[in-house]
Amino acid sequence: MHGLMQERALALPLVLRRVERYFGHKRVVTRRAADDETVATWAEVCERTRRLAAVLDHLQVPDQARVGTFAWNSQRHVELYLAVPCAGRILHTVNHRLYREQIGYILEDAADDVIFIDRSLLPVVWPVISGYAGMRYAIVMDDGADAPIPDDPRILDYETLLAEVTPLDREFSIPDENTAAALCYTSGTTGNPKGVLYSHRSVVLHAVLLLAVDSFGINERDVIMPVVPMFHVNAWGLPYAAILSGADLVLPGPMTDPAGLISLMERYRVTFSGAVATVWRGMRPYLTQHDLSSVRMIISGGGAVDDALSRAYQEAIGLPLTNAWGMTETSPVVTTSRLATVHDDLDPDTKRAVIGSPGPAIPLTEVRLVGDDGKEVPWDGTTPGELQAMGPTIAARYFGETEPGPAFTEDGWLRTGDVATIDPHGYVRIVDRTKDLVKSGGEWISSVELENAIMADARVAEAAVIGVPDERWGERPVAYVVPKDGAELDADDVRKHLEGHVARWWIPEQVVFVSEIPKTATGKFSKRQLRQLHEH
Ligand code: ADP
Repeated sequence: MHGLMQERALALPLVLRRVERYFGHKRVVTRRAADDETVATWAEVCERTRRLAAVLDHLQVPDQARVGTFAWNSQRHVELYLAVPCAGRILHTVNHRLYREQIGYILEDAADDVIFIDRSLLPVVWPVISGYAGMRYAIVMDDGADAPIPDDPRILDYETLLAEVTPLDREFSIPDENTAAALCYTSGTTGNPKGVLYSHRSVVLHAVLLLAVDSFGINERDVIMPVVPMFHVNAWGLPYAAILSGADLVLPGPMTDPAGLISLMERYRVTFSGAVATVWRGMRPYLTQHDLSSVRMIISGGGAVDDALSRAYQEAIGLPLTNAWGMTETSPVVTTSRLATVHDDLDPDTKRAVIGSPGPAIPLTEVRLVGDDGKEVPWDGTTPGELQAMGPTIAARYFGETEPGPAFTEDGWLRTGDVATIDPHGYVRIVDRTKDLVKSGGEWISSVELENAIMADARVAEAAVIGVPDERWGERPVAYVVPKDGAELDADDVRKHLEGHVARWWIPEQVVFVSEIPKTATGKFSKRQLRQLHEH
């Protein structure tokens, strides 16, 4: 027997209507330049959202077509976050920092129909995307940069388009909550990036979960500053949570300099912010020069929390860093830490370490550990296993796949490629990674791709790349290189060869020449042995 409750779709129009009705007076702030911000009300943003939806109709963007964005954290990007999915199209946020071939691949794979671009990104993005034949229009959002606008008939201006239409007069309706809402690509260890296709249901549920007091507790009194980019897993879902709760949103725009960010936090009395550890490390020297008494929670996610950094925050502003664990495939938040009753008697240092660990799974999501033998590992806090995750905000397969691939288990769990322990209270700790990737400043470097690029040099016999801890970036790649017999090669030669073959920030500072790369029994590079070699 079915229950007899209303089957109301969990879809983004509900979220839009709520902010419009209840929180029209609340604010969205976007930084344009040093001490220069634009401030709009949610009522204004919603009115512009309805205009933007009309623009999509006017440009004849088909239902469920992908709408690409190359944009910073800004009010206009928020308008796209709302208008595109509410109007039945799919928001495809693209990371402009990816290497040009990856961007080209992503656009083709997603088959983006129209693309929105911040003017300041044109010099980087236009040379990469102008040859993409599927793009009918490129809509430029003038963010005050003086970057020249290319002379191309496909280019249109965002504000002109918005001014020319009347706001959509029909109400948004997404009757099926499983309709796709947004698409975001994640870099795989090998091969091409893979698309994660979020549904209205998963986006709404994820936003609701971030409002839970035992997760981030986002609420109307918050002033939320997502520093994590809006092209990266929907800025961890923070904009949608802000919209749903009626919080103010403070967006750093194109500038992410630590001094500017901290001044923004102080002036707008930010209560909650999320960023990778590199950002918090950059802000540390400025902490005592600013009044950050408004801040109630700082999320340092996407990687481990460095306890020394967390202690510095605790001493300077009375607040340690809170960790959260997630992936593009998981919307992303699966775990975040908090002190529960079982931690009441711990000393302050141990409490800080608990808050700085990934913590327990948030409601509705589940995690488990699986050992090499395929059996579940007990939650004893010491036995490691592969972390697997399951829930309504977690991907079932990648975009374009007809069947779930190797990243998913037969019983439907996501294999995360992270190795973890879980304590008896469910608190997760990440201890290793099985995927061959280096995470630098919150962004991925594929070890395998970097190795292949190095080995494409005729003077190189073999090359293997490992990630090593780095004070500033979290991790940096180190290349181990075996030159061919008789070849003359130094570290600068290797770096010079990589220029133009990989993104600049992928190029390793450290290149170590060896006579042989250690191998596993099956003849593959043994990254474990290489890591041991590096430590000694
Ligand atoms: P995000 O950077 O938002 O977490 P990605 O999909 O780019 O999303 O990266 C996910 C991966 O980042 C995880 O599988 C894990 O390897 C690493 N990661 C994320 N959060 C943490 C964390 N709290 N501690 C350690 N590693 C983490």
